[in-house]
This record gives sequence, structure tokens and C-alpha cells, in this order.
Amino acid sequence: MRKPVIGGNWKMYKDPSGTTAFFESFRPLIEHSGRCETVICPSFLDLETAVAATRGTRIKIGAQNLYWAKEGAFTGEVSGPMIKASGCSHVIVGHSERRRYFGETDESVLKKTVAALDAGLIPIVCVGEREKENAETVLMEQFRYGIGALSDGQFASIVIAYEPVWAIGAGETATPVTAADAHRLIRALARDSFGAEAANNVRILYGGSVKPESAKGLMAQPEIDGFLIGGASLDPVSFASIVNLEL
Ligand code: PEP
Repeated sequence: MRKPVIGGNWKMYKDPSGTTAFFESFRPLIEHSGRCETVICPSFLDLETAVAATRGTRIKIGAQNLYWAKEGAFTGEVSGPMIKASGCSHVIVGHSERRRYFGETDESVLKKTVAALDAGLIPIVCVGEREKENAETVLMEQFRYGIGALSDGQFASIVIAYEPVWAIGAGETATPVTAADAHRLIRALARDSFGAEAANNVRILYGGSVKPESAKGLMAQPEIDGFLIGGASLDPVSFASIVNLEL
């Protein structure tokens, strides 16, 4: 069975004091939840605060981006080994906002994914179409160039997030059936490139305006192995209610 992952992408919200306050409320709310892996991805500046606030708990911390070089003259960038050394276990790669506003391509997504794995981080690799009608073509292309070139061993260590861009921050969630269809397509692409066992094992998360009200229907789909959540992850009560969902 694939263990669900519930990820929170805080984007460019919260400072260290907001981070501390979040975890003070959040920790007791999810104390008894062991059903899923919980990963919260704050901004770089909040990582150390988040790691300290979650030490000794099951909550994992991830970054939202990395650069592929280990170190060097790359002003403003942060490397995989730096993120790992700060106590993180995960990193988001290729989020649609990075693709859209910061020029990330399938090629850079692949390089960053490999760099994350080399640093001992679990990359949460994001794919997703901008327009509903292009889903199949875009997913095939993003998978082929961004993920398909990984080795079998590398693929076994990634998590994939399907995030249709039209649903992110838009208040419009994909229906459980639409999301599950996209996940099935991604799993079929994984099977073609990496074989049935690897495809069956990879966790595919859904992201795009997931709220406590929509989470249960989505998670009821066997193809959906958890979520990557933006807006609703900023509030400890909302996020905890998703982490604690009983299925
Ligand atoms: C995201 O940022 O990955 C995301 C899915 O955001 P939201 O939940 O706010 O749509």
C-alpha cells in the first residue's frame, strides 16, 4: 500500500514568528495521526525555525525550490546539500509558479530533481496543464522530459504532484474523477518508462485548491495518494483537519 503524503506549500507566506505560531497550534492537533506522512514546505528563511519546531515529531520539513549546483557563484540560489544540512527531508521541484514566473523548464526540473536526490532529499516533482483541454499532451511532455530520463533507482525515490494550473489558488478544484483520470495517465506513463512495480509504488499527489470540504472526496479515489496544498496549509486547523481525515 502507498502511504499517503499530505504536503503544505506555504509559498511566500509567514516569517519565523508566524512559523513558530503555526507549529504551536498544529503539533497537538495532529499528535495522533499516523495514517499519512506530513510535509510542510516553508520559505527558505523559515526552514530552520520549522525544523526546530518539529524536532521529535513525525512532521517533515521541505524547501520549495533548489538550485542544481552543489555550491558556487550563483547569487541568490540555495543548493540541495544546504537544504539537507538545514534538516529538511523534502523539496518541491518544478512548481507551476516556478515554471510560470521564473522560467523553469522540463530540463531544469530534471536537473533539480537529480540534484535533490544526490543531496539525499525527496523531490516532490510537480506536473500539470495550464488549460483543461491540454492535460494529456502536457502531462505526456512534462513526464517524458522532466521525469522519464531518471534512472530506475532515482524514480523509486520521488513523489509526483499533479497540479492542474487552472485549479491552483483559483478556488476551483478538479473533480475527484478528473483528478483520478490524470493520475491514471501519469501512472501509465510511469509504467511505460519504469515498469509496473515502480509505477504501482510511486505516490502521486493532487494539488489545486484542496480544502477540508473537498479533500475527503478526492482521497476516496484509490489513485490519489495525498495532496500538495497551498492556501489551506497556512491555517493549522484547516491543514490538520485534512491530515486527520478518516477514510
Ligand atoms: C500549490 O501551491 O501547490 C497549491 C496547490 O495551492 P492551492 O492549494 O492554494 O491551490
